[in-house]
Amino acid sequence: MGRMAQPRVERQKIAYFTMEIALSSEIHTYSGGLGVLAGDVVRSSADLNIPLVAVTLVSKKGYFRQELTGEGRQIEHPDPWNPSQFMQQLPEEVTVEIQGRDVRIKAWLYTVKSASGWEVPVYFLDTDVDGNRPVDREITSFLYGGDEEYRLKQEIVLGVGGVRMLEKLNVAAHKYHMNEGHSSLLALELLRKTEMNISRVRSLCVFTTHTPVEAAHDKFPYGLVQETLGDFIPLNILKSLGGEERLNMTLLALNLSNYVNGVAKRHGKVSREMFPSYEIHAITNGVHSYTWTCESFKTLYDKYLPGWAHEPELLMRIDVVPDDEIWLAHTAAKKKLIDYVNESTRIGMDYETLTIGFARRATEYKRHTLIFSDPERLRRVGRRGGIQLVFAGKAHPRDYLGKKMIEELFRYGEMFRGEMKIAYLENYDMNMAAKLVSGVDVWLNTPLPPMEASGTSGMKAAHNGVINFSVLDGWWVEGWIEGVTGWAIGPAPEEQVSPEERRNRELDDLYGKLEYVIIPLYYKRRDEWRKMMKNSIGKIASYFNSHRMMHRYVSEAYL
Ligand SMILES: *Cc1c(COP(=O)(O)O)cnc(C)c1O
Repeated sequence: MGRMAQPRVERQKIAYFTMEIALSSEIHTYSGGLGVLAGDVVRSSADLNIPLVAVTLVSKKGYFRQELTGEGRQIEHPDPWNPSQFMQQLPEEVTVEIQGRDVRIKAWLYTVKSASGWEVPVYFLDTDVDGNRPVDREITSFLYGGDEEYRLKQEIVLGVGGVRMLEKLNVAAHKYHMNEGHSSLLALELLRKTEMNISRVRSLCVFTTHTPVEAAHDKFPYGLVQETLGDFIPLNILKSLGGEERLNMTLLALNLSNYVNGVAKRHGKVSREMFPSYEIHAITNGVHSYTWTCESFKTLYDKYLPGWAHEPELLMRIDVVPDDEIWLAHTAAKKKLIDYVNESTRIGMDYETLTIGFARRATEYKRHTLIFSDPERLRRVGRRGGIQLVFAGKAHPRDYLGKKMIEELFRYGEMFRGEMKIAYLENYDMNMAAKLVSGVDVWLNTPLPPMEASGTSGMKAAHNGVINFSVLDGWWVEGWIEGVTGWAIGPAPEEQVSPEERRNRELDDLYGKLEYVIIPLYYKRRDEWRKMMKNSIGKIASYFNSHRMMHRYVSEAYL
């Protein structure tokens, strides 16, 4: 490529710590958007020659494999994977003290190599090491498994163990980036190393918060912290940094980072309201363009916009591509998806019908079932021109409401049998996401504002000319131009509305726009539809990509 694999910033590294990471469907160390984002951070860093290293847990038994019964009941199976198939174990070993015992930690090295030749190492920490007690060998087994105590042990291994492992490996880091509060304990290890020099530690740390759901921020009782972590840091100091009542990992990271950000402009604002005494910036998420663009669109972009994968800004010139070729590329992706749906279910979808996709973690605020709120109106929409719906998503094993939501969706599927084709695909993962976001016509998103910090699957859809139809929350507030880049559902973020009014307006938009705008446009004004597909690529994908995001992290947070 003519570019030399030289570090841009200097030899010093940015150490990116994350509980989950999605490198491929075969490496089961992710549960959703947070992990996919971490994967895209690493992929873009490799492409852009950014001197970044990533640290995570090996999660050898995975998150879980989802099986769904005929009634939509979720059955969780272990989802093991074998690190030695993908990476090499390093000889270095470090220890951390947990419940008064020394726990040994080793690391596996996975290398993400880009076309430019630049490499980003990812270190997977593993406590399944000879000499550890059986219970300690399990600490890095299950992603988001176990109880509070298990989670705290994992966070000690990730934060404290991770810093020690980098030191052992002679990786000199000048910034430590905490991807969510799971890795905040790294800042405590840095405090210890700098003899409690808080301002020094702050100058080393960057923190990205990912959710406005207060309950999702890890908080540990100090009794548990003391039993598990011992007197690692004097309790009075710990309380002054992490909160008086419980050790709040978000607070700890906020207090020990010089640069803090939310993951979309609106999320930055919501976070500032949650933590008014902190300066919180916003860097809107993006997705890795090359990874999330399907084969047929890759071929098209290569032909008309060479260099697009390195410089996704070039996608703003999408109008140089003839409309027919856009449509053909889409038809190819849609055929692949419909074939896949028909191989994995007995729904029998067809290629011509307007296909709407909805896939994400099945948790209450994502509202998978919102479109079924008024079955009569949905029937009327269906009679207008025909639609088919594809869903997917796993519920966390302890998220009973999320599981109930999947079952409810199955009941609606039954209710509409013979009238509308509705599929729920089992075991949502990266490969399936890639098929869905490229193969549907419309990507639907109906979270309850302001719960969606950013969301990224709609950005993936845009890379494939798929049009977004979404509630105005997270990134969509920034990407949406009504009737140009897609369509909005419900009120704008600055409008003050009661929950009832919000819901009414959401349902009016959901059914009204489907019936009077989206369906007629798709079936009767295909030329205009193709224009909107191009706008999705030209005005969304050109901006909402992780190359742009990483340029901003480098210039605003890392340098
Ligand atoms: C992109 C992606 C997500 C994130 O989806 P959102 O709709 O942004 O929440 C979750 N899971 C998988 C497998 C993904 O590829």
